[in-house]
Amino acid sequence: MDLYRIETGHRVDLSAIDPREKSAYPNIRKGTSLSLLREMNSELSQLQRLLWADGRHALLVVLQAMDTGGKDGTIRKVFSGVNPQGVDVIGFGVPGPREIERDYLWRIHLRAPARGRIAVFNRSHYEDVLVVRVNNVVPQDVWSRRYEHIANFEAMLTDEGTVIVKIMLHISKEEQKVRLQKRLDDPSKNYKFDPNDLASRGKWDEYMEAYEDAISRTSTQAAPWYVVPSDSKWYRNLVVSRILVDTLKRMDLRYPDSDFDPSTFVID
Ligand code: ADP
Repeated sequence: MDLYRIETGHRVDLSAIDPREKSAYPNIRKGTSLSLLREMNSELSQLQRLLWADGRHALLVVLQAMDTGGKDGTIRKVFSGVNPQGVDVIGFGVPGPREIERDYLWRIHLRAPARGRIAVFNRSHYEDVLVVRVNNVVPQDVWSRRYEHIANFEAMLTDEGTVIVKIMLHISKEEQKVRLQKRLDDPSKNYKFDPNDLASRGKWDEYMEAYEDAISRTSTQAAPWYVVPSDSKWYRNLVVSRILVDTLKRMDLRYPDSDFDPSTFVID
C-alpha cells in the first residue's frame, strides 16, 4: 500500500491522483472484492485482539474526506467483524462551548486511544487547517502555525506508543455531484443531505489546496498520510483495509508470555 503513501517532504498534487484508478487490485472486480474484504475483516479482527493482548501500543486512524467522501461507509465496511469493545469511533464536529474555550488539540488529545485500543477519528484536528482555513474562522497567522503543532503532537503520541495512520478518501468533484444528487433523489437518503455541503462544494479548489498543504506538511515517517482513490467504494474499502492490516502487522505485536505454567493447573 506504499503506492498511496505520501513520503515525508513530498509535495502532493491531488489533481495528479486519479480518484477512479484501481492499480493496487488490477484483477479484482466488484463481485470478487467482497470475499477479499471478508478475509481482511477477519485479519483485522485477529490483529485487534493481538493489539489488545500485547497491550504496549495503540492505533489511531484519522479519516478525512470531502463531504460524501465515504468516511462513514468505510468505517462500517472495514471494521465490520472487529470486536466493538476494542474500537472507539469518534466524530469531530463544530467545536462546542467547552471546546472552543481551549486549544484546538485539547479535545483531540482527550480522545486519543489507550494502549491496546484502536481509535478511528471521523474528521479530526485536520479540520483546524481545512474548514477553519478555507472559511477564515481564524486568521492565517494562527492556522499557519498549526502544521508544526500537529506534527509535534503526533510525534509525541507516537513516541509514547501510538501508531498513527492518516487517510484521505480522495473523490472527484463529479463523483460528489452524483452522491449528493442521490441524497436528494432517494427519500431514505434525504436525511443525509445538508445544504451546507453545497457551500463547501463551491469552495472545492480551496479545499484541495488546504488538503495539499496539510498532507504535504504533516506526512511523516511516524504518522504518514495515505491518499486513497475513493470514487469506487469497493476499491476504497479494500485499500483502507489493506493499509490497516499492513500497519498492524508491522507493529511486531505478540501475545504476552504467561507468568505461570498452564500445565500445573487442573480444572475439575
Ligand atoms: P459529517 O459531515 O462528518 O458526517 P457532521 O455532519 O456532524 O459530520 O459535520 C461535522 C461538521 O463539523 C463538518 O461540517 C466539519 O467541517 C465541522 N467541523 C469539524 N471540526 C471543526 C472545527 N475544528 N472547526 C469548525 N468546524 C468543524
